[in-house]
Amino acid sequence: MHARDLPWRMAPTRFAKGQRPDPYKVWLSEIMLQQTTVATVKSYFDKFSTLWPTLEDLAAAPRDDILAAWAGLGYYSRARNIHKCAQVLRDEHGGKFPQSAAELLTLPGIGPYTSAAISAICFDEPVAVIDGNVERVFARLYALQQPPATIKKEMRALVQTHVPDHVPDHLPGQFAEATMDLGATICSPSKPKCDLCPINHACRAFAEDAAAEFPKKLPKKTRPERVGHAYVVARPDQKVWLQKRGETGLLAGMDEVPGSDWREGEVPEFAPPLKGDWREAGTIVHIFTHFRLTLNVHIIQINQSVKDDFEDGKWVASEDFDRVALPTVMKKVLTRALSEN
Ligand code: SF4
Repeated sequence: MHARDLPWRMAPTRFAKGQRPDPYKVWLSEIMLQQTTVATVKSYFDKFSTLWPTLEDLAAAPRDDILAAWAGLGYYSRARNIHKCAQVLRDEHGGKFPQSAAELLTLPGIGPYTSAAISAICFDEPVAVIDGNVERVFARLYALQQPPATIKKEMRALVQTHVPDHVPDHLPGQFAEATMDLGATICSPSKPKCDLCPINHACRAFAEDAAAEFPKKLPKKTRPERVGHAYVVARPDQKVWLQKRGETGLLAGMDEVPGSDWREGEVPEFAPPLKGDWREAGTIVHIFTHFRLTLNVHIIQINQSVKDDFEDGKWVASEDFDRVALPTVMKKVLTRALSEN
């Protein structure tokens, strides 16, 4: 009755009639939802479902199109992995998702959470599905004294003791979705609505009037700082030069403007890709999971005829930035540079 209405979900009434959601849609949404909010994911999910309605469509799509459609969602290894995974499913599994969490776990980009979510929600496997919401609910329910990140195995065993074992009215997938919904709506990180909670009678944190003290937190780590240069080469027609990042590492396969390496400590030497009248366009800051990056942005206006001096890249007009695989950090660089122009 209180289930969240999400585009990749199936209504509980249809579940009760024996229907199950499309594993392709569940997989896509769960990969997108890692490290990202439901509100952000909805439009990306709609875009992917429209561009590539089936697993076969996604497997056959050019990788650059997938990276371009993913641009802005961050954690780009996820986009590369969904493409790889779709191709492995097409080539080695007859275009079908395996039904057990253990088999799903062997596929590219599918970890313990996603494998459990697909197998429980789509195939009724009685496995624990544990995301941040579920961790919070159980940390409070049992007033756990350790931060969830330090007791992953114990948490899995604890949640598993509650997973219904495939009886018609208590399906593992519905248990998983209900627990996640409880965490997302009632047992929220701050100001949980304990008075409305259907399991408050069993909750130790509630009994101790201490919900806000759980889950216990890890001590905060400081984020290292990195610095570098970004060089924007612009033509009179406002097209800028973009090149592709390497095939491995951070933002692999995405588009970027030329730049220095990003390092901790001293700012790298100013070494633009061509000589000329470079202007400073200020700095941008971008927060990655493991470091904070400050880039000094430089821009040069070149004569259109210089275009052949460059190889392995492309000239892209600003109105086409949304059609290429530009990560957010590069969008910030270009906005900064072109606003100075
Ligand atoms: Fe969370 Fe409060 Fe419910 Fe306990 S009673 S599970 S703290 S909402």
